[in-house]
Amino acid sequence: MPDSPPKIRVVGDPVLATPAAEVTDFGPELATLIEDMFASLAVAEGVGLAAPQIGVGLALFVYDCPDGTGGRARGHICNPSITTSGPLDDGDEGCLSVPGPYHELERPSEATVRGVDRTGAPVTVTGTGYFARCLQHETDHLKGVLYIDHLPRNRRRRVLRDMEPYEWNAPIP
Ligand code: ZN
Repeated sequence: MPDSPPKIRVVGDPVLATPAAEVTDFGPELATLIEDMFASLAVAEGVGLAAPQIGVGLALFVYDCPDGTGGRARGHICNPSITTSGPLDDGDEGCLSVPGPYHELERPSEATVRGVDRTGAPVTVTGTGYFARCLQHETDHLKGVLYIDHLPRNRRRRVLRDMEPYEWNAPIP
């Protein structure tokens, strides 16, 4: 693990708008990448982080998120595909790559993600409520989509204007 974890890229960086490539190499470099991602996530006190957010264009995210039942869900998943269900939930959403502001966004309240772990073994992760939101948000990142891309243009502009710099972020472009 590096002395200081990789900086988190900020909206405007092209890597955040680019669909991520499938993970095909399940060697030690992938394990190191996952450790780096957890380190960046911890410093920023976030609940989820996708590889493009530290400048790596691979389809992989990590999470360390309240699971909605009083516990905490922590893990990683590569090459996820997602299905959603349940009523819409209009909670607040933020993003470490859009540092500072939060905005209300409707998302389905249940989500299931299927993919593989760092050894290539199949994994399925199901979440409800806030964790379901996290799973959808992180899967979006791997398509090059940020939560603000779901907002009306004027709301998106307001969120961008309200961004603030943090020491764990790359400079705001
Ligand atoms: Zn995000």
